[in-house]
Amino acid sequence: MYDIVLKNGLVVDPGNKICSRLNVGVNGSRIACVTDKGIEGKKVYDCNGLVVAPGFVDVHAHEDLLDEDGCLQPVITRRLLRMGVTTFIGGQCGLGPRDEGEYCRQYNRQGQPVNCALLTGHEELRELAGAGDKYAPVSDEQLQAMGGELKKRLAAGSFGLSFGIRYIPGIDLREMLALGRIVRSFDGILAAHVREDCEASIAAMEEFVEVGRQTGARLQVSHIGSMSGYGQMERVLTLLDGAAAEDLDILIDCYPYDAFSTSIGATTYDGDFLARYGDDIRKIEITDGEFKGPIPSMEVFQKIRKEHPEYLTVGHVMLPEEVDMALLHPRVVLGSDGILLNGAGHPRAAGAFARFLRLYVREKKALSLYEAIAKMTWTGASRFGLSKGCLSPGWDADIVVFDLAKVEDKATFAEPGLLAQGFRYIWIGGELAVENDEIVNPCLGRFIKKVY
Ligand SMILES: [Zn+2]
Repeated sequence: MYDIVLKNGLVVDPGNKICSRLNVGVNGSRIACVTDKGIEGKKVYDCNGLVVAPGFVDVHAHEDLLDEDGCLQPVITRRLLRMGVTTFIGGQCGLGPRDEGEYCRQYNRQGQPVNCALLTGHEELRELAGAGDKYAPVSDEQLQAMGGELKKRLAAGSFGLSFGIRYIPGIDLREMLALGRIVRSFDGILAAHVREDCEASIAAMEEFVEVGRQTGARLQVSHIGSMSGYGQMERVLTLLDGAAAEDLDILIDCYPYDAFSTSIGATTYDGDFLARYGDDIRKIEITDGEFKGPIPSMEVFQKIRKEHPEYLTVGHVMLPEEVDMALLHPRVVLGSDGILLNGAGHPRAAGAFARFLRLYVREKKALSLYEAIAKMTWTGASRFGLSKGCLSPGWDADIVVFDLAKVEDKATFAEPGLLAQGFRYIWIGGELAVENDEIVNPCLGRFIKKVY
């Protein structure tokens, strides 16, 4: 007799190479069995006609900041849960919590909608070391202080380090190598939002791969669609495949949209960005405030950039076929990369995982259900050493049950915060978090520390 039995669902568990109609037994917080035999449970859920998969692991998400009262608001994580995500890897693009210990305490104080594992944000290390000028290299003393802090954080449970090279143009190879070697010594993950997009993304990927070569660290290339989805995708994927063939461990994440999002004050908009993005400022829109909508002119753009550098923009500038190419590549997994400001922003925060299932599996049939679920679970999760992302006995009972015919991403560019639908049940640690598209327990997610 198991605590919970999920009967007759189509179990799709790429980590165990399973894709067939089976029963799943759960005891306490752990998976107990996946079997074709009849099993009894104290509570039985009929999953006939539904897909049963490991809870999705989002390898690239942002919910890094505590609010003014020092509390953590579940702005993104609530939306992640509603599209099947049960764990996310935060601290991406160089932006992590300033105080990871306090973040962990806040996270676990009452629990959050999904589990969280963190990378340490490089920008935070720089700030703490007093290296405030993002355009300048750090001094030897500052680099030493950053290394010391990084070691402390890795020893305390961080899963690695993320660079936002794009946002800190002053970072040089010496800085990346010194910190990358520390990450390597802890067998952590070294992630990067690389230095440039468009044509220059090719050299930028080379630069990051070189850091991997010289340090031996395992790499994560962030949101490749927004870096190289302008006609460079094939060359960049070939380049990364070549590096992987030399024995570099490379994971790539991507969100399933052909528009990027960043704040208007970001270095992304330094220099002649319009030349890169097709010479039409109206392809860039402001998501919030009095200027909401497509930007009418460069004058207006510069004015907003000066007065409200925090405003979010969405750039409808990537080539859809290049984003498709990335998502179908075996090394690429799903990462939502969502950010919302006052509920406004890019729909990926609330829609990425549901959209991927709807568009690429159900409508375009570009990927099999099995391939798509692998990109949302095992392929990414296995890199981080979590006991998540597959349904092996003894592993955490994070399980998602959905109706593929009904999965819908409701979030749009006009209404980016709308929650996804089509999810019948979601368990986190053997406890029910979602039932019939309603969150029944928003506090089951815990902060996960890496054990070295
Ligand atoms: Zn980024």
